[in-house]
Amino acid sequence: MPRLQSLEAALKHYFGYDRFRLGQQQIIEQALQNQDLLIVMPTGGGKSLCFQLPALLKQGLTVVVSPLIALMQDQVEALQDNGIGATFLNSSLNSYQVRSREQAILSGNVKLLYIAPERLLSDRFLPFLDLVQEKIGIAAFAIDEAHCVSEWGHDFRPEYRHLKQLRRRYSGVPTLALTATATDRVRQDIIQQLGLKQPSIHIASFNRPNLYYEVQPKQKQSYSQLLQLIRQTQGSGIVYCLSRRKVDEITLKLQNDGIVALPYHAGLSDAQRTANQTSFIRDNARVMVATIAFGMGINKPDVRFVIHYDLPRNIESYYQESGRAGRDGEPARCTLFFSYGDIKTIEYLIEQKPDPQEQRIARQQLRQVLDFAEGTDCRRTIVLGYFGERFAGNCGNCDCCRYPKPVADWTIEAMKFLSCVARCQERFGMNHIIDVLRGSKSQKILQYGHQKLSTYGIGKDKSVEDWRLLGRSLLHQGLVDQTTDGYSVLKLNAHSWEVMRRQRSVAIAVTTVQIPSAQPLDTQTAEVEMLFQRLRSLRKQIADEQSVAPYVVFADSTLKLMAQQQPQTLAQFGQLSGVGTHKLSQYGRIFLAEILAYCQEQGLTVQQDTTTPLPATPSDTELFTLQLHQQGLSLEEIAQKRNLRLTTIVRHLSDLVEKNQAVNLNRLVERDRQAKILQALQAVGSHSLNQIREYLGEDYTYDEIRLVRGRWRHENR
Ligand code: ADP
Ligand code: ZN
Repeated sequence: MPRLQSLEAALKHYFGYDRFRLGQQQIIEQALQNQDLLIVMPTGGGKSLCFQLPALLKQGLTVVVSPLIALMQDQVEALQDNGIGATFLNSSLNSYQVRSREQAILSGNVKLLYIAPERLLSDRFLPFLDLVQEKIGIAAFAIDEAHCVSEWGHDFRPEYRHLKQLRRRYSGVPTLALTATATDRVRQDIIQQLGLKQPSIHIASFNRPNLYYEVQPKQKQSYSQLLQLIRQTQGSGIVYCLSRRKVDEITLKLQNDGIVALPYHAGLSDAQRTANQTSFIRDNARVMVATIAFGMGINKPDVRFVIHYDLPRNIESYYQESGRAGRDGEPARCTLFFSYGDIKTIEYLIEQKPDPQEQRIARQQLRQVLDFAEGTDCRRTIVLGYFGERFAGNCGNCDCCRYPKPVADWTIEAMKFLSCVARCQERFGMNHIIDVLRGSKSQKILQYGHQKLSTYGIGKDKSVEDWRLLGRSLLHQGLVDQTTDGYSVLKLNAHSWEVMRRQRSVAIAVTTVQIPSAQPLDTQTAEVEMLFQRLRSLRKQIADEQSVAPYVVFADSTLKLMAQQQPQTLAQFGQLSGVGTHKLSQYGRIFLAEILAYCQEQGLTVQQDTTTPLPATPSDTELFTLQLHQQGLSLEEIAQKRNLRLTTIVRHLSDLVEKNQAVNLNRLVERDRQAKILQALQAVGSHSLNQIREYLGEDYTYDEIRLVRGRWRHENR
């Protein structure tokens, strides 16, 4: 492990980031002091780093409990691509693979182990963990998705309850619990069920400033509306629909319109679902059309839009589902299509529920969704308010704030409404109040004798919709309250009385049926945009070569920095946020070459990179590979033994060749093939592996080319 001056230096070295996000540094310091921690951060907040960086700085193995295989693989891949010793154990592995990974753990080559709870607590695994504890030590347990211990969470998993055993068995080992679930109830449950000892609790704001929230009235031609929106927006996206049938229908239409879209729902086979998900993550498919079955455990950080084609069930799920956009902190767009027809469908579904209590809760949740969808106040304020977080409003990044609706003085109407609430003795909900105001002859009115009230029928001049708009607005502005017991009874507060006494006027934003045109969220100059696209396709090519997702190579934000700043030397390249030591040596040259080529074509200044060649001395990990190579192991055997990908081993060896280390190249590539590749290098240069391969033909592999390129670079230094 290199000696690092500070936590910031370690952050840059391992992950390439320049600074910590709010809260991360303090959490990491406490983790290094072996405190128990409860970390509550929204999706994309940067929870993983809170246990990953301490894991790298501490002695021993950090065990990460994770409920989903896809999630584990994802995180492990990303870590390995930063040159970090991480691995997972789950049911996708055969017994040989399991044994070899366990071996790697015992030899101290692994800092982070990802594992599912049932395997961790199995009779076979615990004795192994004892051995780990004895030989190399356990640094910490990190319990990801910790809300799974709680029946009050949205994804209860009974096996999480048994994790408490770990406390008894390894009493000195600290535990970190992480979740994105916001409610207090679940937090208390986590602390109790996991037996956290005087945990330090960190709760981040749930505001996601990079997300643009908007609601569009769903038009008759809703599919064209969707298509237009997708065409206006760049990058990957998710379209959520309520039913499988709808998912299939929309997917087909999009495909016919030339959008690479795939479906995801519970009616597809496991294999098909996994395949579609992988296509999406690797950017082979741009759009995923899905039911809510899709998303849990999707770690794709560069989702640029999430469209709800149908109404979501409640605000919490809307927050989580739309929150799958923009995890990388870059601008992303969350659009909700809203129609009154959808409400009828959901009301029908609610009526089918057998339990009246469940029905009540569902109705209340629906009302909150309607408050959000029909609201004219800042959308962010409404969402965050749902989580008990006060937000001042005027976020500047939602449709209501960007395109405020015209305001009208509705003080008189508000007085009518509130005095009707008073006459009904604060015992009824909004619908009933509106019925009274509009002089309805419904049975409920007659039953309570409300046709005799002085406010009966005084509001016939306004439609039901107008009154609802007023009622909701009064609620949002805090001019009336509503009970949260499932009945949503309206209650007057001090402000209500001020309105009724004419001490306060009421302004209402009047909804118009105009559809806000899609604003480009991110404006870049054409020159930057073009380079960005080129870097994207280079990234895709490299990712495909290694069978990983493009974002594993570099995040969108890092590509954007490359395109904007156009670094001209490796040293400058290494300064970019997102470029750590390992990525610099792995990808620096090839990306730099692309940038330089672009600058040259565009007639932009090019400064030759003479200052910082590849560091001449091999790194520790390269030396380890070299050792095994010298013992006569094949590339595959080295990869197996080191628990690394084959391409990584090839990269080690080609860099070793370039650094003039004793690699027996002839053992790896036949001599006459070497000669052919050298010829190609002479002809097309060494920057683009693709070009070299095109020159040589399919018969040559990227691995061979890479190895020989090492030799060529050494000889042409
Ligand atoms: P969570 O698990 O909280 O949903 P992640 O840990 O996956 O979020 O982090 C979300 C994204 O933010 C990832 O792409 C991660 O690499 C990035 N990230 C985390 N910490 C930082 C940081 N300090 N600077 C820049 N990017 C960061
Ligand atoms: Zn706003």
